[in-house]
Amino acid sequence: MNPDIELISIGSELLSGRTLNTHAQTLGSALVKIGLRLSRDTTVPDESETIRSAVHEALERTDIVVVSGGLGPTSDDITRAALGKLFKRDIVMSPEALGELRKRYTERGRDLTPAAERQALILDGAVTLLNSVGAAPGERLDLPGGRTLFIVPGPPGEFAAVLEERIIPWLREQFRDAVPLEERLILTEGIGESDIVTRLEEAGFQTSEISVGFYPGFGKVEIRLSASKEHLWALDAAEGTLRDILHDHLA
Ligand code: AMP
Ligand code: MG
Repeated sequence: MNPDIELISIGSELLSGRTLNTHAQTLGSALVKIGLRLSRDTTVPDESETIRSAVHEALERTDIVVVSGGLGPTSDDITRAALGKLFKRDIVMSPEALGELRKRYTERGRDLTPAAERQALILDGAVTLLNSVGAAPGERLDLPGGRTLFIVPGPPGEFAAVLEERIIPWLREQFRDAVPLEERLILTEGIGESDIVTRLEEAGFQTSEISVGFYPGFGKVEIRLSASKEHLWALDAAEGTLRDILHDHLA
């Protein structure tokens, strides 16, 4: 199975500049820690056709897709309906999620209105993923061909809770052999990216087993080297070589 995972962030406000899309960072960093990779983040507006095509395409590329946003009780939240149409599934009430909603509303002395109850709707056949932060659950839909779709509420706190409490433990179980990449960081100052590259080229610096990323900002450049555990020797060698080549600009 391909351990790459895609994210589809749904919300017109994410595209209009009103809200910063933070889910890619939350998911990407959580996956790196368990040796998996967020391979793509697609952001789409709250439009049924666009949601359906984005999810369909993502599931053609990878086995695990996380969809977030558009699950609220308001009329602009259409993710569930769009996915129901795509997978030909009815939308049903999750007894577990409804029970949790009732408990929360009673504790807070609030009435559970029909609009609020809609937060407990899931796709028929999906597994309800309750979380400790919000009333709205996430869902896991197991699809033919060993593919899996996670559907997660949009509010960042709820997204993070479903991720840490439900999705990450499931992924760990599925990918027991996944090992996080080893990383080395080199921080330089007073030398620009293009001058760094020129020096590396002149020194004949090459890497096949490791990947190198350059992250410039505020007069400094962070060079991030990463490799799998079996290439630790190459990582250490590359770090040493880079530190030699850039010795007069190390921060
Ligand atoms: P929704 O699930 O679409 O009703 O979104 C609930 C709240 O979460 C709204 O305030 C959204 O703007 C916010 N939200 C949804 N998706 C994201 C995201 N990817 N990054 C940050 N905030 C988000
Ligand atoms: Mg929304």
